Amino acid sequence: MSSGGSQGLAGRDKATAAAYKPGKRLHTAPPVHPKPAIMQEPVLVLNATFEPINVTAVRRAMVLLLKGVAQAEEMNHAEVHSTSRAIRVPSVIRLLAYRHIPQQTRALSRKNILLRDRNTCQFCGCVFPAAELTLDHVMPRSRGGHSSWENLVACCYQCNNRKGDRTPEEVGIKLVRRPRPFTLYTSRQLMRLIGHRDEKWRKYLFY
Ligand SMILES: [Zn+2]
Repeated sequence: MSSGGSQGLAGRDKATAAAYKPGKRLHTAPPVHPKPAIMQEPVLVLNATFEPINVTAVRRAMVLLLKGVAQAEEMNHAEVHSTSRAIRVPSVIRLLAYRHIPQQTRALSRKNILLRDRNTCQFCGCVFPAAELTLDHVMPRSRGGHSSWENLVACCYQCNNRKGDRTPEEVGIKLVRRPRPFTLYTSRQLMRLIGHRDEKWRKYLFY
């Protein structure tokens, strides 16, 4: 991340300081801070090539705009108000300089597996809170199954007990989805999930 942004922010602070010069009578209302809820809304981040690469919060997106690192491609209906003006909130932003995104490899962790499987037990297809899910080795460890993206799935305790040290075929159950590594494709699926309410994201996510 470049340091240009901090200068930009400092510049804004300077401007604010100038407006509050001693002796100058203040006619403007004190700054109104935007509702935090708006600042946490998701914003789709595109690479310079319009390829979707990330989802961030409005707060972070506005910092990127302020730094001149990104430009707004689509606007949200909401506005945030500073002392002097209303600033429209972005819905989609695009980085001005191309950023090389390495083939996304996420750490193999319980959290990422639940994210990939969307908190859905891969045996009964029910959605559970994270605390009510465990990880199941499709091919049991006792029979040589590895702890890998392809062999670990989210599983509810009931299905986990039922399956025990057997394979899904032996128990006569089918996996909801074949487990796969967390790829850019998975990320994009999640972006669609997060952005399904925002029509403006669609044309960038191709659905
Ligand atoms: Zn289950």
